[in-house]
Amino acid sequence: MNKNLKVFKFGGASVKDAASIKNVLDITNTFKEEQLVIVVSAMAKTTNNLEKVVDLYTSGTDAFEELEKIKQFHYRIAAELFENPLELQTSLNDTFVEIEWLLEEPMEDTYDYVYDQIVSVGELLSTQIVAAYFKANNLDTEWVDARDLILTDNIYREGWVQWDETTNRTKKRLQPILDSGRKVITQGFIGSTSENFTTTLGREGSDYSAAIFAYCLDAGELVIWKDVPGVLTGDPRYFDQVTKLEHISYREAIEMTYYGAKVIHQKTIKPLQNKNIQLHVRSFINPEGSGTLITSDVEENYPPIVSVERDQALIRISTKDFSFVAAHHMSFLFTQIAALRIQVNLMQNSAISFVVCVNDSNDKVDRFTALISEEFNVSVERELDLYSVRHYNESIISSLKSDKLILAEERMPKTMQFVTKSLKPMQLKAGF
Ligand code: ADP
Ligand code: ASP
Ligand code: MG
Repeated sequence: MNKNLKVFKFGGASVKDAASIKNVLDITNTFKEEQLVIVVSAMAKTTNNLEKVVDLYTSGTDAFEELEKIKQFHYRIAAELFENPLELQTSLNDTFVEIEWLLEEPMEDTYDYVYDQIVSVGELLSTQIVAAYFKANNLDTEWVDARDLILTDNIYREGWVQWDETTNRTKKRLQPILDSGRKVITQGFIGSTSENFTTTLGREGSDYSAAIFAYCLDAGELVIWKDVPGVLTGDPRYFDQVTKLEHISYREAIEMTYYGAKVIHQKTIKPLQNKNIQLHVRSFINPEGSGTLITSDVEENYPPIVSVERDQALIRISTKDFSFVAAHHMSFLFTQIAALRIQVNLMQNSAISFVVCVNDSNDKVDRFTALISEEFNVSVERELDLYSVRHYNESIISSLKSDKLILAEERMPKTMQFVTKSLKPMQLKAGF
C-alpha cells in the first residue's frame, strides 16, 4: 500500500459552477504534498441533460438545441474561470464536435451504445475545465482519459470492469505521473471496450471509478467529497432527524448502499475492502469536518439506519396452470434477471407465486415481463418506494409505516424492508 497516495472523488454538486470549482482547487491545495488522483463527475445536472439529448436523437427528434444549451453552460463556466477562455472553449468545442457528428447521422446502433457515446461527454468536459483551472493556478496537473485506463466488457450503460487489464493500464499510465510530482485529473463513470468504444459503469458510477483507481494503485485512502457532512442515518432530503455516523465497517456500508443509501455508489466498497483501503466520506462544504470513516475494524453498535430506494417495481409472477413455482421455474426466471442485470431488492415466494421488488430502471422490467409472460401470469405495480431499515426497532418501523399502504415486507435479523406506494418527495420529510 502506498500511504502517500490518495484518490479523491468530486461529484456533480461539487463542480456545479465556477465558485464550486474554485472550492475544489482550495481543497486540493491543502494536499499539495500528497500523490493525488482526482476523479471528477459531470457538472451539476449535465448527465441528465445529456440523457435528454439521447432521448431526442433516438426518438428521431432534433437534439441540437438541447446540446447547444449544454455547450453554452460549459462555455459560461470557462468564461467565469478564465480571463481568456478561448483555448479551453476550443478544446471543449472539439469534444462536442464528436457528438454533433453522431447526431447528424441516422440512428443505426442500439440505444445503449448511443447513450454511452453521448452521455460520457459530460465527464470529458468537466475534467477539461477542472484540469485547465488547476494548471492555471500552478497546480501541476495532468489530464488523463479514463477510457485508456478502465477496460470493460461490451455491455453498454453497465460495463463490467476487466480487472487485470485495468490494473495494468492504470499503474503503467498513472504511477509515472504521480512519481514525477504531478496530480492526475481523470473522469469518473466512463471506460472503454477492447475495441475502444466508450462504455459507462451505470448512473452515479464515479464513486466506483474512484474505488477502481484506488484498488489498482494500492492507494492509502479514497476520499469522496460530498455535499453532506458524511454518511448519515438517513437521506437528509427525506428525513429531518438524521445523525452522522463517525465510523462504519465496509460490511455496513455495503449493506446500506445495496439497499439504496444513495450517498455512495453500491459497487464502491468491495474493491476497497479487498485491499483494506479506507474510505473517507467528507464534506466539500465544510472540509474541516471529520466526515465518516469506513474501514474493517469497527466496534459495531449502530443506531437505526434508513434507506429509501425510489422507482421500484413489484412484479408478481405465478404459473399459468396453478402448478407450484418449482426450481426449474426459478432457474428460468433468474436466468432472465441475470441476463438483464436487474437488481432484485426483495423477493418472496409461496406455493404458486413469486414476488420480486426490483429497480425500475431503463426498460428492463418491460423486457423481463415480455420474456416471461408466455410461460407465467405476470402483473407489475410501479412507482413504489422500498424502505430498508438496518438495526431496526419497533418504534421506528411503526413511525415509518404510518399512513402508508404496505405492499410487501420482509424481516431479517438486522434488516427490515417494506414496499409502499410512492409518496411525493416533500411528503416523505419526517423524523424517525
Ligand atoms: P455526488 O455529488 O457525489 O454525485 P450524490 O448526490 O450522489 O453525490 O450523493 C450525495 C447525496 O446522497 C446527499 O446529498 C444526500 O441527499 C444523499 N444521501 C442518501 N442517503 C444518504 C445517507 N445515508 N447519508 C448521507 N447522504 C445520503
Ligand atoms: N455523471 C454520472 C451521473 O450523473 C456519474 C456520477 O455522477 O457519478 O450519473
Ligand atoms: Mg452522484
